[in-house]
Amino acid sequence: MMKIGFIGLGNMGFPMAKNLLEAGYSVYGVDLNKQAEQRLTEHGGKIGTSIPELAKICDFIFTSLPSSEAVEEIYLGEEGLIEEGTSDVLLIDTSTVTPGVNRRIAEACEGKSVSFLAAPVSGGVIGAVNKTLTFMIGGPKKDYHRISPIVERLGENIFHVNEDVDSGTKAKLINNLFIGFYTAGVSEALNLARESGIDLENLYHILNVSYASSRIYDRNYNGFIKDEQYDPGFTLKLLRKDLGFAMELADQHHLDLPISRNLLSMYEEAIEDGYGDKDMSVLYRKIREQAKS
Ligand code: NAD
Repeated sequence: MMKIGFIGLGNMGFPMAKNLLEAGYSVYGVDLNKQAEQRLTEHGGKIGTSIPELAKICDFIFTSLPSSEAVEEIYLGEEGLIEEGTSDVLLIDTSTVTPGVNRRIAEACEGKSVSFLAAPVSGGVIGAVNKTLTFMIGGPKKDYHRISPIVERLGENIFHVNEDVDSGTKAKLINNLFIGFYTAGVSEALNLARESGIDLENLYHILNVSYASSRIYDRNYNGFIKDEQYDPGFTLKLLRKDLGFAMELADQHHLDLPISRNLLSMYEEAIEDGYGDKDMSVLYRKIREQAKS
């Protein structure tokens, strides 16, 4: 049976690993958080395999990690996946990282049998649970063809952006820049609606069939704002991370994006005010609370 490693069993990684188990693959999970590992065994996952061992026995290894630093450590560190990978294992990183990390990993693979694809995802935790994720894959087309039958068990829309290993990450960062704009826009506009005496539910039904409709309006309003519950979700902290990466990408291309810069400051301020671990839609509440004070 094909062996798949899965490193990082958090909000996104756990449901993806579980879906691979349900698709009939043999899955070896690794996480710093032992409870997350334990949870995987309840669904038939195997745990207790070290990263060097994983790199030797697996056909494919996925990673879903919270930061670029964690990704670099797992791939490029001592006893990391690249150093230890001896078979023709294909490594697939689904994390959102700073532009350039993928390239460093791909360069480290040169001259080795190990291959690497950067495959960031969109669709959130719900998409990971329901297997409706969008994958934006950058790297060699032949490796994309190798991984396609497996990622088709995790997502609905699988795209090969181009052969540049950073290309999926660029598409993903642009996606998240849009999300940052929409989330801020929805938060400000709905505060205006409330303060000016418009019922938010009524407004949603009107705007959902008008040009203001968007998937983020739908998600943020129906999933969070409506019931005033902001359990993540996609944390404001993670969105801020991705906006920072998008700005790095803009800097690399000597592009000044003044509205995006302001957006980034807005999210940074929200984190300083203690909203970082809530779903990003909590920006609506922050604006409301500021209006009250
Ligand atoms: P998370 O914090 O819930 O999960 C990350 C997991 O990685 C945690 O369980 C943590 O213990 C584990 N981990 C951290 N360092 C590790 C290490 N060195 N070795 C082993 N395990 C380690 O984060 P998440 O929400 O699942 O996001 C994961 C990635 O997916 C991020 O890069 C994020 O930007 C991206 N992403 C998230 C969403 C979302 O909606 N949450 C959507 C799309 C993409």
